[in-house]
Amino acid sequence: MKIEVNQDLCIGCQTCVANCPESFQTNDEGKSSPISQKEFPCTMKAAVGCPVGAISVTREDE
Ligand code: SF4
Repeated sequence: MKIEVNQDLCIGCQTCVANCPESFQTNDEGKSSPISQKEFPCTMKAAVGCPVGAISVTREDE
């Protein structure tokens, strides 16, 4: 599992942090960073819910 937040796209709206605090945290720049590369039930929901499509979740076994 590879979870990435494109820092150039992220607008720091905190939606992903609210939707999935297990996977995303606010970083020093007020944007979102992945906490780990582990997928939680809410990870994909948070990725899909990002208004600017900044989150990518890739399954490495696919
Ligand atoms: S939902 Fe998207 S734009 Fe908003 S903080 Fe998360 S990654 Fe950034």
